[in-house]
Amino acid sequence: VKRSKISGRPEAYQTQAFDIVREQFGMETALRRALDRGQMRLTFQPICDLATGEVVAFESLARWADEKGVEYSPNEFIPVAEESGLIVPLGRWAIEEAARILASWDERAGGDCGVKLAVNLSAIQLQRDTIAPIVERALSSNGLEGSRFTLELTESALVSDPDRVAGIMHALKGLGTTLAMDDFGTGYSNLAYLQKLPIDILKIDRSFVTGMLADRDKVAIVRAILSLAQALGMQTTAEGIESNELAQTLAALGCTYGQGFVYAKPLEADLAYALLEARSR
Ligand code: C2E
Ligand code: MG
Ligand code: MG
Ligand code: MG
Repeated sequence: VKRSKISGRPEAYQTQAFDIVREQFGMETALRRALDRGQMRLTFQPICDLATGEVVAFESLARWADEKGVEYSPNEFIPVAEESGLIVPLGRWAIEEAARILASWDERAGGDCGVKLAVNLSAIQLQRDTIAPIVERALSSNGLEGSRFTLELTESALVSDPDRVAGIMHALKGLGTTLAMDDFGTGYSNLAYLQKLPIDILKIDRSFVTGMLADRDKVAIVRAILSLAQALGMQTTAEGIESNELAQTLAALGCTYGQGFVYAKPLEADLAYALLEARSR
């Protein structure tokens, strides 16, 4: 049965569902092996001050290349990792690797290299009490202050047990980290949480930013998010900025930070550091 041909017959549907399960199972096994064999790496995308263009942070983004050199997108493997529970060891690796690389940049710079790292945390990681100690240990064992990390969370983290997650967020905040709400505007949670939680930054989802200049509805949504953030005393980062015109427009609207291909695609660690060095010269 070809996957593209979905007939209404139950046996065809079953075969298709089986294919999907098998595909996921295969990826799960491969992902588990990849983690054990060190086939995962982090890439780094600059986050810039929209007013000055200066790099203030890098977001660390996981990459996976298998034995054959095939690269998988996090949009494919993170959901599989979340469903299988592998996100817990993978997420922990990402936190420790980010801290290790940031410390290596500091060492090369002979002091604070001048940027924070933004690390993504999945909802599943946030529901565990161990996340704050894991972050704390990753930072301290690399000689880093908590203020060097921004943790990017998603609204989905708040759905199941908001009170518990709030406690964990306060614990992370207590380490000195900055907390950012990722993909803001795409979730379904109650806006009242924004007031109660220690969130510093709203990251405006790429879907509202891309094509914004030709779409008045998107502009309206972006404006609404910016004024909400301002009213709540939060900063904002727009993601998916692909042109200078867009960066200028967002800056004029009062958005604090920007990220996107106009600045750089996610870079290998050495290239990201080279960008910092070039900047400080
Ligand atoms: P995100 O956190 O919203 O990350 C931003 C994504 O937007 C990245 O995709 C980045 O490459 C992409 N992007 C940045 N600028 C542009 C642009 O100008 N145009 C376009 N079209 N895309 C842009 P990426 O690296 O494929 O990551 C996708 C998602 O996977 C991330 O979305 C994040 O939610 C998740 N992810 C990546 N690494 C990790 C990780 O280590 N842990 C966890 N839990 N999630 C991760
Ligand atoms: Mg993110
Ligand atoms: Mg994002
Ligand atoms: Mg996104």
